[in-house]
Amino acid sequence: MAARVATFPRLQILFSMTRLFSGTPFDIPPQCDDCGKLQSECACTPAEKADAEKKRQRDADRLEPGKQTAKIRIEKRKAKRVVTVVDGLTAKANDLPALLSKLQAKCGAGGTVKADEDRLELQGDHLTSVSQTLRDLGFKVR
Ligand SMILES: [Zn+2]
Repeated sequence: MAARVATFPRLQILFSMTRLFSGTPFDIPPQCDDCGKLQSECACTPAEKADAEKKRQRDADRLEPGKQTAKIRIEKRKAKRVVTVVDGLTAKANDLPALLSKLQAKCGAGGTVKADEDRLELQGDHLTSVSQTLRDLGFKVR
């Protein structure tokens, strides 16, 4: 490998650039992105690395409430059962279980996350308090 690099002088410069501050007080040794330890001391398992990467991806996919519009409606089900349906907030952009917990606490009602459908459902007619709670959290509501 060393012999090969030597035949490409430009490549060799690139390689040395990767540790530009090597040997100076500005030289920061490579650290693990996940545990923050020096890479030589890092004991993260591949599974932990994969989890951390997934979490980073999840965080990157999150959207702030102000950029999302919730569509709320009341739906009648069998046996005069009524549910409040929230559409428009995706499982990718939001922590839907956490959001449901907040709505359940405000409405004092049970509910379900339908992650596959990017939907929240609360038992009963809670149009007003669901709208208000989502607005308070910064979502646009329609
Ligand atoms: Zn680590």
